[in-house]
Amino acid sequence: MSDPYLSVVIPIYNEADNLETLFSRLTNVLDNIGRSYEIVLTNDGSQDRSEEILQSIYQRRPKNIRVIHFNGNFGQHMAIMAAFEKARGEVIITLDADLQNPPEEIPKLLEKIDAGHDVVGSIRQLRRDSWFRRIASVINNSIRYRITKIRMTDQGCMFRAYRKHIVKLMVASRETSTFIPALACSYATNPTEVEVAHDAREAGKSKYRLYDLLRLNFDLMTGFSLVPLQVFTLAGIMVSIFSLLFVFYLFVRRIIVGPEADGLFTLFAILFFLIGIVLLGLGITGEYIGRIYQEVRKRPRYVIREILEHSDESAQS
Ligand code: UDP
Ligand code: MG
Repeated sequence: MSDPYLSVVIPIYNEADNLETLFSRLTNVLDNIGRSYEIVLTNDGSQDRSEEILQSIYQRRPKNIRVIHFNGNFGQHMAIMAAFEKARGEVIITLDADLQNPPEEIPKLLEKIDAGHDVVGSIRQLRRDSWFRRIASVINNSIRYRITKIRMTDQGCMFRAYRKHIVKLMVASRETSTFIPALACSYATNPTEVEVAHDAREAGKSKYRLYDLLRLNFDLMTGFSLVPLQVFTLAGIMVSIFSLLFVFYLFVRRIIVGPEADGLFTLFAILFFLIGIVLLGLGITGEYIGRIYQEVRKRPRYVIREILEHSDESAQS
């Protein structure tokens, strides 16, 4: 069996109500592209009926479908990473299972790949998310760009296409906490972006709570930049300079006016401010150290319980 041209990679966490629709819409599109393909689905430890449904979907098209079952929940990015490791296509497309990225837009991404781009990002037209998510993402984008210099109009959209060599580099990176679109951006030589339609979630709820989004951003900042640490160093330098001037001023004042006793609360205010900066710095340093700790433990990033795939031997028998 030769390798397919296209691999479509989908992470799945409790998406039972979406899988059938996803499967039929996706195969409908892929069958009409006129190129060989495979669909690699990672079940990221779902607790609902996703596993059964995946089983039945696999049985219907064993030659086109591969299913990776994790033995727990390792997160969307690890689910994609595992599928990347198994994907054999020349071009790899990532897609969410909740049908927010319409599979009908896949040809649009392929067009850009054919035009010679190695990474094709996507921008959601008319985002169907809550206003809160939209505002958060605008603020987030500008901070992220300033800190990491990774240019991505829409970091939240996982509907993307990559050339095989980019995916190989990402797999070889072996980072525990990573952010796939940003990693791809740092390896791309000729990236581009297209606008794609964006629908509301077909069924179920978003798996990301505010806390997860925050964590994702810490991963982005610390995984791709040392700027937060440097900002802290700069703040330290500034505070030292000001304190020195202040000490000098107090010294002169003491000689001319005499010792001062008032201004106790001013002193407290200054002190609290400085303690705030110190705590912030400790926190930022901790973010980096925590990630270093995760990397040095070298625990497996994810554990695969079972893989459903069609082997070549069974094809011959
Ligand atoms: N997902 C996953 N593991 C997780 C959380 C999410 O595999 O721990 C999958 C989920 O099934 C979906 C995709 O990642 O296919 C995006 O998740 P979701 O739609 O909840 O995120 P949002 O669209 O709200 O950013
Ligand atoms: Mg979604």
